[in-house]
Amino acid sequence: MPTKVFFGENLIEEKKDIFKKLGKRALFVTGKNSAKASGAYYDLERVFRKEGLDFVLFDGVEENPSLETIVKGVALGKKERVDFLVGIGGGSPMDAAKAMALLLANPGLDPREIFLPGELDFLPLVAIPTTSGTGSEVTQYSIITVDEEKTKKNIGSPVFPSYALADYSYTSKLPKEVTINTAVDAFTHLVEGYLNTNASELSDIYGEKGFSLFRGLFKKLIEEDFEGDFRRDMMLASMLGGMQIAQNGTSIPHGMGYALTYFYGLPHGLSSGVLTLAFLRVFKDKKRLEKMLELLGLGGLDELEEILNSLIRVELDIPEKTLEELASSFSKNREKLKNFPEEISSEEILGIYLKSLKK
Ligand code: NAP
Ligand code: FE
Repeated sequence: MPTKVFFGENLIEEKKDIFKKLGKRALFVTGKNSAKASGAYYDLERVFRKEGLDFVLFDGVEENPSLETIVKGVALGKKERVDFLVGIGGGSPMDAAKAMALLLANPGLDPREIFLPGELDFLPLVAIPTTSGTGSEVTQYSIITVDEEKTKKNIGSPVFPSYALADYSYTSKLPKEVTINTAVDAFTHLVEGYLNTNASELSDIYGEKGFSLFRGLFKKLIEEDFEGDFRRDMMLASMLGGMQIAQNGTSIPHGMGYALTYFYGLPHGLSSGVLTLAFLRVFKDKKRLEKMLELLGLGGLDELEEILNSLIRVELDIPEKTLEELASSFSKNREKLKNFPEEISSEEILGIYLKSLKK
């Protein structure tokens, strides 16, 4: 993982020398409010002024960013001749910045071509998370909504940020709902990266440390006790999940969850979180599952179910026929299925939707 990672507090100020190394003029990529509400934007503005650097702001990134938004940001970056980008926010602005970095370095590329497999160049990028969930600051992925195809897709070339400034103080005012939804996303990354075809002793280091952290984090999430070390541990767990999926990729719950976000507007963390328990119940390697549960401090999947049920409340009324169509379309998703280390039948895939959503 080529990203240089800094973890702590006051990082924009402490690590201000990194920006100069990347150029003179940056495109800041943010959502509507969070970059400012978290304080990260103002810290950057101050440091850029002090260092004599320029920036332009693109603050139009919506949740689950669309290709149209990427194109708008690229137009601004091109016009302003930026040298590098700073993505500030949750996964949406960080992912959007990665896709923009790719298009800005490849002016001849049609925006729809960013999904083609390749190793294209990209402008350097600094990622500053303000949620603890996606781990996008340490991954090469950028998940973009493509309306033409009615789905969310990952870009085809890896775009790792040059630097990740993981400053957990920017998550201190994260609303309760976003805190929980994004925490569930981080947990699903740990699960899907751990129970994965590509898992190795090395990647297990990240997964297992992440599960040990969740042992304490689940309790605090349920009690809504976000004080003390909660924000630090939560960002660490999220980043470890990101590092693990950077190596291994996600698998079935993420692949099946995209449709729940696209068609039913479910927040990303919940879309895979709601499917996780049923996914774990079809997992056949019980030894591996037990290791995970042991690190989480849980006696069995029933205990995990209780925790997830108290964090996730999803009420979607999706007809069984539609779930059958979604399951059948997912059964053709080789990218996600190849990461799943066991055989799984189309009945089991449909079963995951039905057991999770038709209780
Ligand atoms: P998000 O879509 O980036 O943000 C969700 C909401 O939280 C927005 O309303 C945002 O406000 C708000 N918010 C963010 N930080 C805040 C703060 N510090 N204080 C107050 N509000 C704050 O949520 P996310 O769950 O982090 O990202 C989800 C996206 O990441 C999805 O598109 C998903 O597919 C993608 N993802 C990527 C990876 C990867 O490896 N690249 C992995 C998993 C998921 P603003 O609109 O004002 O910013
Ligand atoms: Fe995710």
